[in-house]
Amino acid sequence: MIDLKEFQVWFLTGSQHLYGEETIKQVADHAKEIADYLNDSEDISVSVVFKPVLTTSDSIFDTLVEASSDKKCIGVVTWMHTFSPAKMWIRGLKALQKPLLHLHTQYNSEIPWDSIDMDFMNLNQSAHGDREFGHIVSKLGKQRKVVTGYWKDEDVLKSVDSWARACAAWQDWQGAKFARFGDNMREVSVTDGDKVAAEERFGFSVNTYAVGDLVKVIDAVSDAEVQELIKEYESTYTLAENVQESGSKRQNLIDAAQIELGMKKFLEQGGFKGFSNTFEDLYGMKQLPGIATQRLMEQGYGYAGEGDWKTAALVRAAKVMGAGLKGGNSFMEDYTYHLKKGEEMVLGAHMLEVDPSLTSEKPRLEVHPLSIGGKDDPARLVFDGDPAEKALNASLVDMGGRFRLVVNDVVGINPNKDMPKLPVARVFWKPLPSLQVAASGWIYAAGAHHTVYSQNLSLEHFRDFAAFANIEVVHIGKDTDLYQLQKELLWNDKYYTEK
Ligand code: MN
Repeated sequence: MIDLKEFQVWFLTGSQHLYGEETIKQVADHAKEIADYLNDSEDISVSVVFKPVLTTSDSIFDTLVEASSDKKCIGVVTWMHTFSPAKMWIRGLKALQKPLLHLHTQYNSEIPWDSIDMDFMNLNQSAHGDREFGHIVSKLGKQRKVVTGYWKDEDVLKSVDSWARACAAWQDWQGAKFARFGDNMREVSVTDGDKVAAEERFGFSVNTYAVGDLVKVIDAVSDAEVQELIKEYESTYTLAENVQESGSKRQNLIDAAQIELGMKKFLEQGGFKGFSNTFEDLYGMKQLPGIATQRLMEQGYGYAGEGDWKTAALVRAAKVMGAGLKGGNSFMEDYTYHLKKGEEMVLGAHMLEVDPSLTSEKPRLEVHPLSIGGKDDPARLVFDGDPAEKALNASLVDMGGRFRLVVNDVVGINPNKDMPKLPVARVFWKPLPSLQVAASGWIYAAGAHHTVYSQNLSLEHFRDFAAFANIEVVHIGKDTDLYQLQKELLWNDKYYTEK
């Protein structure tokens, strides 16, 4: 569903006419070599497209306007191989509507000690050319990421790729549609928020759709389609005895498959990239979608429960940013704690809806009663999430007049306990720097109980992403000090409310 190579980053090189034709040609050859290297590198997930060297104010303006309106272009990388007087960039930068990365690199990694002469010096000027460019970007107050280092270095490529993935997710949000079946869970605060402000800031829309209209699509699914999906379930999962053929809960499985097919049709027909629902409004549905939601998330749809459209959108963004990386991204809830001294950890789960992309094991397909909602026993996939040395939880909250992203680095673990009576998928993690500091910090920061749990994204991805929206990021990690964090929150309140 998500192919990052469909997204293009444009590689733009600045220079000037002063150096003559021969030098400009060399600049172009070098720039093309770098752009092609990035494009072919396995470390860069998007396409990188070389563009002709820019030497005039008009060509800069035209190219940046074109980048802004081109649907495939998700961002531009700039590099000044030589000096490129930056007043030429003012008009173009002011017109640019796409994310900007300033790659502060140099064609040569080393000084050629024996052969260096003034020709070399005149060609390899990024050390000062990029400073001239950077000056005007800062002066204009233009948001961008600066990455410094040799263009073949792994840490440079990783940092560029983090930004490129964030660009793809950002582009994906622009004009994205999220469906909300039913309203917010009654009386819940954090899952709600200002959808109009979100559309203005983030570019996606959230609108409500009647559950009854979804049920019509579900009811129209044919038996043949359902039987085919049941076969897929049987070949993909380990079925509990009561859902196997002629088992006492087989019909619940058939109903669940019909719900999955209907929901997928509804989402495809409406061009939605994610959805939310609530167990308080399942009018006409036989059961709360469990396996349906789990599998739709696995296919790339954003989702969060109880009407939580912000987390649904964030899960979708994580799906795009994490496409092709080992590990998964899922809607998550801090469910219950293990507070034994020295072993503190969080059990993350939801009523049903955890994405099987978090596990490498074969999920079990089971039907059990759900204590709330008053519907038929729903089918769900049950599994333990894989351990992940560098995992995180991210939460997007509406602070009233502004949005905040809270990120906590965690270590995903598997406690290797059986838990035979727990009929839901679950993940365990140890928050950094400790459960005590992380949870207190999270609560001070107004973080939600709903998150996207990621096994393959880092703080850098989310920081790059949040920068496009110009929203605050509160990070809780190994170096977090609670007192400093509380002060940061106070400062941020001042800064972000006055902006
Ligand atoms: Mn919930």
